[in-house]
Amino acid sequence: MIAEVIINSTAKKLNRTFDYKIPKQLEDYIIIGSKVLVPFANFKTPEEAYVVGIKDKSEFKVKEIIKIEDNLTDKQIELAKWMAKEYYCNVSDCIKLMLTPGTRNKNRENRISEKKINLVYPKKEIEELEFDIETGNIKTEKQKRVLKFIIDNPGCMVSEIEMFTDCTRGVVNTLVKNGYLEIIEKRIDRDPLINKEIKKTQKLTLTNEQKKAFDKIIESIKVFKEFLLFGVTGSGKTEIYLQLIEKVISDNKTAIMLVPEISLTPQIINRFIARFGKEKIAVLHSKLSVGERHDEWNRIKDEKAKIVIGARSAIFAPLKNLGIIIIDEEHDSSYKSETTPKYQAKEVAKKIAKEENCPLILGSATPEISTYYKSEIGEIERLELTKRANKSSLPKIKIIDLKQELANGNRSMLSNELYQSIEKNIKNKEQTILFLNRRGFSTFIMCRECGYTAKCKNCNISLTYHKYEGKLKCHYCGYEEPLITTCPECNSNKIRYFGTGTQKLEQEIKKQFPEIKTIRMDIDTVTKKNSHEKILESFKNENIDILIGTQMVVKGHHFPNVTLVGAVAADSSLNIDDYRANERTFQTLTQVAGRAGRGEKEGKVIIQTYNPENFSIQCAQKQDYQKFYETEKALRQQLKYPPFCDIIVISFSSINDVKMIKLANRVYKYLKEKKELEKFNVLRPMPSPIDKIQNKYRWRIIIKGTMNKEANNVLNSCLNKIYKMNQKDIRVTIDINPNNMV
Ligand code: ADP
Ligand code: ZN
Ligand code: ZN
Repeated sequence: MIAEVIINSTAKKLNRTFDYKIPKQLEDYIIIGSKVLVPFANFKTPEEAYVVGIKDKSEFKVKEIIKIEDNLTDKQIELAKWMAKEYYCNVSDCIKLMLTPGTRNKNRENRISEKKINLVYPKKEIEELEFDIETGNIKTEKQKRVLKFIIDNPGCMVSEIEMFTDCTRGVVNTLVKNGYLEIIEKRIDRDPLINKEIKKTQKLTLTNEQKKAFDKIIESIKVFKEFLLFGVTGSGKTEIYLQLIEKVISDNKTAIMLVPEISLTPQIINRFIARFGKEKIAVLHSKLSVGERHDEWNRIKDEKAKIVIGARSAIFAPLKNLGIIIIDEEHDSSYKSETTPKYQAKEVAKKIAKEENCPLILGSATPEISTYYKSEIGEIERLELTKRANKSSLPKIKIIDLKQELANGNRSMLSNELYQSIEKNIKNKEQTILFLNRRGFSTFIMCRECGYTAKCKNCNISLTYHKYEGKLKCHYCGYEEPLITTCPECNSNKIRYFGTGTQKLEQEIKKQFPEIKTIRMDIDTVTKKNSHEKILESFKNENIDILIGTQMVVKGHHFPNVTLVGAVAADSSLNIDDYRANERTFQTLTQVAGRAGRGEKEGKVIIQTYNPENFSIQCAQKQDYQKFYETEKALRQQLKYPPFCDIIVISFSSINDVKMIKLANRVYKYLKEKKELEKFNVLRPMPSPIDKIQNKYRWRIIIKGTMNKEANNVLNSCLNKIYKMNQKDIRVTIDINPNNMV
């Protein structure tokens, strides 16, 4: 018997099969999906490879497989092949997501018991590391092996590296010394669930609305069907998930529920444990050590765990007999992977649900425009919950016009109203959350007199201020104009650059209220050592008056004593150079509003903005999704953005800019001539907004059009042609509708 294998490599030209003989003694064990070791080329150590086909004969003279390490199912291999084509990556990149973490199946008796441990993290961007592995900057096989392992398992222990890669501590140390890895000391708290008795809960009697939605899904529980469960926060979506899963489990099937990484808190997990017990549930997320993920994965494989709750990559959990997939907060951007493979978990989930003949439920209070659109044209069935299940009321939302504040002589970050409300809250010993959405790298400019912001003439997207060149640029089409110092609308000279952040806000609060306690939560305070969960815990339990943070603070937490929420600069998400600016603004403000008044006391929300008339802010105030959707849909249709077209980004990066630009131009010419892309708008190569990172130049080609099979084929064969040219020092990747356009 002959196995067709794919070598586990990010080298693009190895994205093809090689034949190997299956030794007699392994014939019964090697299946499509096996992870094996094979001798390859003249390498000293064997290479990892995956079996993707089995046949009787080979036309080549073949070597033998050395050893088998792990098995996947042929369904998983099919999925990996599909993903590789869909997301323009190597089959092996996709297979990696489906393998048992760690995968060298040694007995793991010793659970982490130390109080303090050292964890190893990559010190460069993953793409950078892969580039260095591919181009031979990393010389030894051992270093490569360790790096690959850490790319897959960031935050692992040195002992785990030793166990799973057969390399010594010395290799890790060398990589640290050379700036590829860093070691961070972390305190390990014992699993909070280990000794905790969680009282079992019984299912609630569903309200009429809930029952209607539940019954509709149950009707299709044995076939593939996609649903949008659209319900305001607190309308009882989670209760429906619980009862659907209960039904699926009683039919002897299994369930996956995806939630955004940041909402994967003990609160939601406890709710599931209270209903189903700890034994049946596996939790998968990035904070677990490799060993722990390894164990969870095996509990799933051994059919002990029947319910998987996890972030994006949990969609690949090896459940047998899948009965339902639920994706909560389906609008969340974390469902799209931004590193290779650049998959969208919602699309992968759909593919899996179809294969397994089970329903897929997308839940949200603020569905993504594209998802709602699908429910409108009948591709997805929409189920609505319009009332809060526990009858608590939504908070009062007030919009403050900052232009007016300025006219009244108030130049601080806090409006009068917000200042007074904070003061009142401090007196009443009630808590406040201040939210400041500072996202991305770029600064935008705005007239403080009239609220004017400079927008691109072709794209209706805010221009970004490029400090060094002194220019305003559109990140979508490359349009640029010189910096303005007077406002073209009102002629005032109050043009300002906005780059205020949470840190500045905290400073200001401390100046104005010196006696109070604050805590800050943003990328800078949430380090690998100090999780967002801990910050939230101390906010809840340690008499802290004000929590200041970026959008991390708005995700589904429950603080009964928070009665005031202030969105300090609602405009900062409005002025990101992204076609989703309105959508993100509406979603965050709606979520922000959901944080106030969740206890007995009534809540108040204050939105500060220079654009009080903007429709996404207006609709958020009225909590009117429908109106928001209609307005935004019309805009997208007119300007040709998703769902009315896809945005395809072909990125080039290299140290050698001349060579790279030449290649980009060749690719552009090639694509321009393809008749399969006739209906697409292929834009000429252009530097990326951030056009140089770590000495590598970055260019890209943007294509607008509705993705289809033919276009997918053209792009794949274009990539293959590039890889055959073997220009090792140029990295080319393709991403469809990326989250982030920098
Ligand atoms: P969502 O997931 O839509 O935010 P939840 O399922 O968390 O909503 O429900 C919000 C609150 O309402 C929770 O405290 C939950 O226990 C309660 N709840 C949900 N469904 C019911 C019901 N049928 N009867 C009574 N209370 C309910
Ligand atoms: Zn102006
Ligand atoms: Zn533009």
